[in-house]
Amino acid sequence: MKKDYKQKLFYALYGLIIVLLFGLLFWLGHFTIFKNLIDKIEQNSFDIRQTIISSGKENNKDIVILAIDDETYEYIMDKYGSWPISRKTWSDIINTIEIANPKYIVFDLLFLKPNLKDIEGDKALINSVKKYQNVFLSMNFDNYSEDIRKSPEYKDSLKLKIKEGKLIDSEYITFRNSRSVMKELSDVTNNIGTINVTREKDGIIRNITPIFKYKNDYYGNLTLNVALAALNKKEVSIENNKIIIDEKHNIPLGTTQRATLNWYGKSKTYTHIPAWQVIKAQKNNDTDFILDNFKNKIVYIGTTATSLSDIKSVPVESNLAGVEIHATFLNNILDNNFIQKLDTKIDFLISILISLVVGYVVLNTQSVLKTIIFLISTLVMYSIVSTYIMSQFNIWIGMVIPFISSITTFVLIYCEKYLLKSKDYEQTYRLAVTDGLTQLYNHRYFQEQMKINLNNFKRYNQIFSLILIDIDFFKKFNDTYGHQSGDCVLKQVANILKKYSRISDIACRYGGEEMSIVLTNTNKEEATITANKICQAVRNNKFILANNEKVNVTISVGVATAGINGEEVQEMIEYADKCLYKAKESGRNQVVAEID
Ligand code: GH3
Ligand code: MG
Ligand code: MG
Repeated sequence: MKKDYKQKLFYALYGLIIVLLFGLLFWLGHFTIFKNLIDKIEQNSFDIRQTIISSGKENNKDIVILAIDDETYEYIMDKYGSWPISRKTWSDIINTIEIANPKYIVFDLLFLKPNLKDIEGDKALINSVKKYQNVFLSMNFDNYSEDIRKSPEYKDSLKLKIKEGKLIDSEYITFRNSRSVMKELSDVTNNIGTINVTREKDGIIRNITPIFKYKNDYYGNLTLNVALAALNKKEVSIENNKIIIDEKHNIPLGTTQRATLNWYGKSKTYTHIPAWQVIKAQKNNDTDFILDNFKNKIVYIGTTATSLSDIKSVPVESNLAGVEIHATFLNNILDNNFIQKLDTKIDFLISILISLVVGYVVLNTQSVLKTIIFLISTLVMYSIVSTYIMSQFNIWIGMVIPFISSITTFVLIYCEKYLLKSKDYEQTYRLAVTDGLTQLYNHRYFQEQMKINLNNFKRYNQIFSLILIDIDFFKKFNDTYGHQSGDCVLKQVANILKKYSRISDIACRYGGEEMSIVLTNTNKEEATITANKICQAVRNNKFILANNEKVNVTISVGVATAGINGEEVQEMIEYADKCLYKAKESGRNQVVAEID
């Protein structure tokens, strides 16, 4: 029965701990500092998982990067003496690559204003873009004031068509101004898209904005526009916070209306072809080189040279060329494998389940080592499973809340166990020092207390006294009324002792029908007064026997005081015993504190 109650208490507290813990976590979630901290650690765990799984992933071989790398920059400075180069060079590059029939040539470079010093170069580029309608150009949104730059109007054909559904218009996608492609270029093509990328608080780019809002219209990210062309689509739908391109391709959006990219590894995962090699191949009429590298490819042209500083930090690498972010974005759309963050509610549910299991195991396992091993292996298993789920299903399961909650549960359940155990210990200790019949302290405890008090007396001169009590003619009493009634009397005498002792006094059953009281900070005089009070109280008490009969009982009492009557336990007991003997001799029912 008692054990059952304890078991219930254990489980009730365990349930309460889990409820309070998650209540607390939920409440803390309302504080930005806490939330940001959790998000930061969660993002780091995401970065680690991405780094682990990205190395084993195959990227789309149709995507190649024509890189303005450090060597090309050297080559250009050597040949042309300045950067940026004449747009004639870009025109030449387009014309050269087009021999190989690439799917698309996508410029992650901005052609903003006409170059008045090089009108011929501009013309050449415009002609090439016009001639090959598979060239994509970039523009940029920002929030510059109209005082600095008039915000341009864009022709309808540049706007993104949303067939069905509505995008949540948030601050994250809305812009007031824009850096547009030079007008002469935008007159000859509709293949223009936005190349804004946004770093997170820690400077790392994990997400990309697929759709932007500008002057009440929507515009596609450069790569979204390339993907639409590649998938032969002219418009998108919005459904359940997803951009739907077709049945097989959609882009899930997070709370910031951005898509979380799924990485394919470190720099140069996509084939990089240095631009200087193309310029050289063109000069040498090396058609094979062009065909080998660009046939049916989607060619992204961007700066990768560190000196041109288009270098970004992403989860898998701290020095990644910006153009690779676009390549990855395109690859994610074509493979339909964006990362989808699991709803926080489900993260919480998983955390509650794991914490319940951890708590249950701690509650039911004796060995501390086993519980620690269990906790560690649970966390390791969880990390492995969540990494596996990310690699197989592209789902980002939260790791921080499950970790925090299961570790906290582990500690709290240990606290619970310890508290309840210490209560157990108290109970055991109490039983060990108490006499079962009278509920007074037992002989062992009496001896201990005598020693402690004598030590204190010797060290700090703390006086104390001992009262020794023996019931008169108890043998006869037992013979007359029976042993059971004798026990009744013992209990009632004990109660009188308890009643007349102070909290600091220690009333004990010395043995048989003899009892004792250790009175701390009590001199002879005070002890004798107490002894007399007890003697009188016993004398006046009507003792109720087992058969309800009421009888009188008397006691004889001896008193000894530390220092005056002895400096060792045995000496004091002997002195009190002698007093007691004298009291018996002198007719019983009295206190003797002094022997001659
Ligand atoms: P005196 O006045 O000289 O003390 O006479 P007495 O008969 O009390 O003598 P003594 O103190 O030597 O007697 C001890 C008796 O106390 C023996 C035993 O019958 C009784 N006694 C000891 N322990 C218990 C107990 O736990 N229960 C009961 N009922 N009797 C006990
Ligand atoms: Mg006795
Ligand atoms: Mg006796």
